[in-house]
Amino acid sequence: MTVSVPHSLDDAVRLLGEHPDAMLLAGGTDAMVEINDGHRRPNAMVIALNRVPDLRSWRHDPVSGTVTIGAGVTYTELMQEPLAELLPALAEASRTVGSPQIRNAGTLGGNLGTCSPAGDGLPVLSALDAEIRIVSSSGERTISVHDLMVGVKQTSLLPGELIAEIDLKVRAGWQGYAKVGVRNAMVIAVASACLAVDSEQRRVSIALGSVGPTVLRCADAEQQLSNAVDWTSGAVSPDAIREFGTLVSAASTPITDHRSTAEYRSHAVGVLGARLARRAFATSEGAAG
Ligand SMILES: Cc1cc2nc3c(=O)[nH]c(=O)nc-3n(C[C@H](O)[C@H](O)[C@H](O)COP(=O)(O)OP(=O)(O)OC[C@H]3O[C@@H](n4cnc5c(N)ncnc54)[C@H](O)[C@@H]3O)c2cc1C
Repeated sequence: MTVSVPHSLDDAVRLLGEHPDAMLLAGGTDAMVEINDGHRRPNAMVIALNRVPDLRSWRHDPVSGTVTIGAGVTYTELMQEPLAELLPALAEASRTVGSPQIRNAGTLGGNLGTCSPAGDGLPVLSALDAEIRIVSSSGERTISVHDLMVGVKQTSLLPGELIAEIDLKVRAGWQGYAKVGVRNAMVIAVASACLAVDSEQRRVSIALGSVGPTVLRCADAEQQLSNAVDWTSGAVSPDAIREFGTLVSAASTPITDHRSTAEYRSHAVGVLGARLARRAFATSEGAAG
């Protein structure tokens, strides 16, 4: 096995063009586990991306209101100010990932590359309508995150392509992430949800993790809550929040596996949706529950 360690994005892309079937390695927290468990054979060529500065950095353009995050930015970095202030739900999701060691090594690009329905970064990218910049030796393309995540651990990346950057719009309005697992820490989500309010557009978005083959958006629930909010006062009735939770549950298409049952997942994701909505908007029931 040859391990190449490019020091620029151009070199990484050139190497990948020469070896389109090479295995990309970022933090290795998914890839090495799969190899160690025998679920994946290391390819003859491995391209390690963690020395590519363009992938390890992020920037904020206040004029366009866009934050651009390199695929190799780690969860630890996503949790820190000022990034955490610009994208609070992403910081909140990052705090729930693994342990400090995993958060120091694991990257957002690796989360997308694995594309597990339980990936904690992915509901946030979906709720915030992230755009993904993909590069290869024949050029680049930008696609919606929804077009990247096509199935269980399946992306639409073609051989020879790598994820370079993730673009997210900074939104005015509350956003948050919540996750249920079998314990409180070091846990893969049994159900998860990210809710983001866009107070300028007067709309709510919600994306669900671990309750479908890939991350799911809930068009009916989004429409219902966006219509139910009094956008002047920021208030919404408890009944509307309950209905929102029911619609969120209904949008889920979970399976039963070793972590949980489909029934529990459907129920839990509705509870998470309603809980996030209560945090986002003032209700007479308050923010608890
Ligand atoms: C103990 C433990 C706990 C964990 N807990 C969580 C958790 O709570 N929540 C969670 O979401 N995940 C968790 N994970 C999984 C993992 O940490 C994350 O999915 C992480 O984001 C993977 O990033 P990485 O940089 O380590 O990716 P890698 O393992 O390096 O790569 C993962 C996949 O993405 C591909 N890839 C990497 N970079 C790119 C790129 N730029 N372009 C295209 N493809 C690319 C690789 O080829 C590989 O297929 C855990 C893992 C472990 C071992």
